[in-house]
Amino acid sequence: MSRHLDAQRPVDGVLPVPAAEGSVAQWTQRYTHAVMDTFGPPQRVLVRGEGAYVWDADGTRYLDLLAGIAVNALGHAHPTLTAAISAQLGTLGHVSNFFATPTQIAFAERLLEVARAPHGSRVFLTNSGTEANEAAFKLLRRHSGGRRPRVLALEGGFHGRSMGALALTSKAAYREPFEPLPGGVEFLPFGDTAALEAAFATDGDAVAGLVVEPIQGEAGVRPLPPGYLALARRLTADHGALLVLDEVQTGMGRTGRWMAHHHPHLGGGVVPDAVTVAKGLGGGFPVGALVAYGEPVATLLGRGQHGTTFGGNPVAAAAGLATIGVIERDGLLGHVARLGAAWRERIAGLGHPLVAGVRGEGLLVAVELSAPVAPAVQARALDAGFVVNAPTPTALRLAPPFVLTDEQAASFTDFLAALPHDLEA
Ligand SMILES: *Cc1c(COP(=O)(O)O)cnc(C)c1O
Repeated sequence: MSRHLDAQRPVDGVLPVPAAEGSVAQWTQRYTHAVMDTFGPPQRVLVRGEGAYVWDADGTRYLDLLAGIAVNALGHAHPTLTAAISAQLGTLGHVSNFFATPTQIAFAERLLEVARAPHGSRVFLTNSGTEANEAAFKLLRRHSGGRRPRVLALEGGFHGRSMGALALTSKAAYREPFEPLPGGVEFLPFGDTAALEAAFATDGDAVAGLVVEPIQGEAGVRPLPPGYLALARRLTADHGALLVLDEVQTGMGRTGRWMAHHHPHLGGGVVPDAVTVAKGLGGGFPVGALVAYGEPVATLLGRGQHGTTFGGNPVAAAAGLATIGVIERDGLLGHVARLGAAWRERIAGLGHPLVAGVRGEGLLVAVELSAPVAPAVQARALDAGFVVNAPTPTALRLAPPFVLTDEQAASFTDFLAALPHDLEA
């Protein structure tokens, strides 16, 4: 059938949008019977979004201060992102990795630029953060011809749920049901420089690498102490080990710079050996990447040693290119840095007895509460029209779209200010 004839087909070929009928309660019921219960019941069933807002199936509007867990960098239904994805899908939607596309190549080049990766660096494109970390783990296994069995990671770190990424993740409740996991991973206490030195003091040359988040996201937005990454860089370099930064949550502008480690006070000026990114990378479209710094690291995974069907998909690449392009065009890094700093200051300055502190960088923020009521505050916020999340019993996480306005941020500050002082868990 020619393209011309296809174009003549009437639009009755359009399939109905299921969300057009049914209430939140009805859809929740159907969810329970059709979707595996790994996440617990959904808080709401959402049908539509625009900018920083989403709407549920009952027509209720929410200010989305979570953005799909630090994903929807440009907000919902951004016209530039939508157009880029549609144009690519309508031109060439997928090819196997026996072939390449200009979109994929241009995306890889842009990613190397924003990651400040030196000449000789390369990317491996994936569909998620987990897969990016899985690739990083395999890369570490290939270091020194496979003769370095030790891999270091931090307590409280989160790197994903596949068997490899889980092996790098410390939380016992996530790991234990699935043991045995790939071996060789040792967990060091978070931010403990003496423990880091001790880990290299004995058999340091058997360490393939250290995998760390500059700010632990799932642990409640915990930044590494200043100087930690610089020490990690020195020790890994001294022992020929690789420094891998998991910037899946913190990367791609979330903190007001392209990478969290680009902040002098977080990164200490380090150049890592590899960085993983995903979440915000495609503005909501699933895409991730392992960026390997410099020729020696970039060639550790050889032909046939890793692969993926969907990774490098041109539609995902178009989404990534458009997201990076809009962030640059609209000066969103500066906006994220400025709004984030002002917002954290406002919340800290409320003097509300429930607010024990505020931490984070850019628009990755945690409000630390003085009592374990974060889940209760999350539920109240939702009822008041705000999507937030409680990664720990005492922390509220805010990771809104970069397009959030000052007024929208202020509306949540007002909500916090009005919280009852004696809120119960
Ligand atoms: C979310 C996250 C992952 C896992 O990414 P997925 O896209 O869910 O597979 C890995 N590392 C960090 C730091 C994350 O925040």
